[in-house]
Amino acid sequence: MNVFNFSAGPAVLPKEVLQRAAAEMLDWHGSGMSVMEMSHRGPEFIAIAEKAEADLRRLLAIPDDYEVLFLQGGAIGENAIVPMNLLGQKKVIDFVNTGEWSKKSIKEAGKYAQVNVAASSADRNFCYVPPRESWKLSPEAAYVHICSNETIGGVEYHFTPEVGDVPLVADMSSHILSRPIEVSKYGVIYGGAQKNVGPAGLTLVIVRRSLLDRALPITPSAFHWKEQAEADSMLNTPPTYAIYIAGLVFEWLLAQGGLAAIERKNIDKATLLYDAIDGSGGFYVNPVEKKDRSRMNVPFKLRDESLDGAFLEGAQARGLLQLKGHRSVGGMRASIYNAMPIEGVQALVEHMREFQRSHG
Ligand SMILES: *Cc1c(COP(=O)(O)O)cnc(C)c1O
Repeated sequence: MNVFNFSAGPAVLPKEVLQRAAAEMLDWHGSGMSVMEMSHRGPEFIAIAEKAEADLRRLLAIPDDYEVLFLQGGAIGENAIVPMNLLGQKKVIDFVNTGEWSKKSIKEAGKYAQVNVAASSADRNFCYVPPRESWKLSPEAAYVHICSNETIGGVEYHFTPEVGDVPLVADMSSHILSRPIEVSKYGVIYGGAQKNVGPAGLTLVIVRRSLLDRALPITPSAFHWKEQAEADSMLNTPPTYAIYIAGLVFEWLLAQGGLAAIERKNIDKATLLYDAIDGSGGFYVNPVEKKDRSRMNVPFKLRDESLDGAFLEGAQARGLLQLKGHRSVGGMRASIYNAMPIEGVQALVEHMREFQRSHG
């Protein structure tokens, strides 16, 4: 059966990438080795890592004064690693709280610094991004932290906030590479790979080089950006296989026409799904303000929650997998990352319409 996987993460990967990885599994390019068996310091793997970085730089048009790091620890790890690397002599960090992942970042950073919540959408259950004019930033902040796509709540920034001379730091775990971004507006961009980039285990950090001299002395070497940058992310053994797969995903994205082309596809997919929700007369509901809706993660509820089980069973029977919403929210969530073809969204919308017809 043709299956469509709507998991929030680890998530769907392009079929072409998996096929290529399968074909190269036992013998990468005549080396006689699987990528998993290679030394990270050998010429084969160095070539793989260098190509991956070059392709990522091309995709995001990353300026030369930015370092690209391939680390471990995930985005939750970075919630602690970012303050350790950026606090310097400062005491305060500004946060914008837009939901579950913001809250986790705030809690972790509170172990290292004083946290100022400059803006929050908690007043309306995190259904919007607080407009920039409402943010109460502290001039002495080490940096301003945002979560630019809330994977659980389905809230996404469709603008890049201006924050003056204070570095802007963004957790982009669940929408990085879904569209072009202006890297130069950010001090640091980070994300776990397992949503829209590749397998779990790889963490991407893109950091402006001029910010590399602010690490606290307690920063562990493996998570010390400057030390890792000087060692080409190989101060410790990097997640080699995950880097290899991410590299294949970067090649796939370039072959799709790059991020402007993938953005158009993502807009088409998201529009199709939100139109189906909004056109259901309240049978399906998405609570997020239209201008702040995520193109990647689409949570929705059935008006009658007692039908949730039947909806999921019917979806499963059609090969529409992992649609159950996050345990903290309930309902459904369709994650429609880059690798989800429009046919998957069409099949979901068809299921939603038929289900409403038979249960509405
Ligand atoms: C998934 C996710 C995380 C957590 O990532 P881990 O790799 O599990 O640490 C953090 N932030 C966002 C926005 C996420 O989607």
